[in-house]
Amino acid sequence: MQQEIIHLQSAAPKKPLAGEACNGCGVCCALETCPVARLRFLQKKGPCPALRWSAEATLYRCGLLSAPGNYLPCLPKVAEALTSRLLARWIAAGKGCDCTAEPAN
Ligand code: SF4
Ligand code: SF4
Repeated sequence: MQQEIIHLQSAAPKKPLAGEACNGCGVCCALETCPVARLRFLQKKGPCPALRWSAEATLYRCGLLSAPGNYLPCLPKVAEALTSRLLARWIAAGKGCDCTAEPAN
């Protein structure tokens, strides 16, 4: 089994099993980028530049979804909400954890 070291906040939630509800643990986006991020940032390896820690919610969020204008400078303000919805559909956000990685701790 391939092993990689990733760095996440100690307060981040423990990764659920693949197929369970996503809890924002951040493991997937710390390991490698999603298809959208590969196009935008031209990198396959994580951590994704758009991965954002929310101290209030104590979980990770996708900055590209929550604030697409921060990462797509040419995007008109009026198109941000629609872009966010389309990106969420593209990366299947909220559809459950699709990451099979098993963090050691
Ligand atoms: S999809 Fe899985 S690994 Fe990625 S943030 Fe959600 S729970 Fe964590
Ligand atoms: S764009 Fe969002 S969902 Fe995709 S890898 Fe980056 S943080 Fe994760």
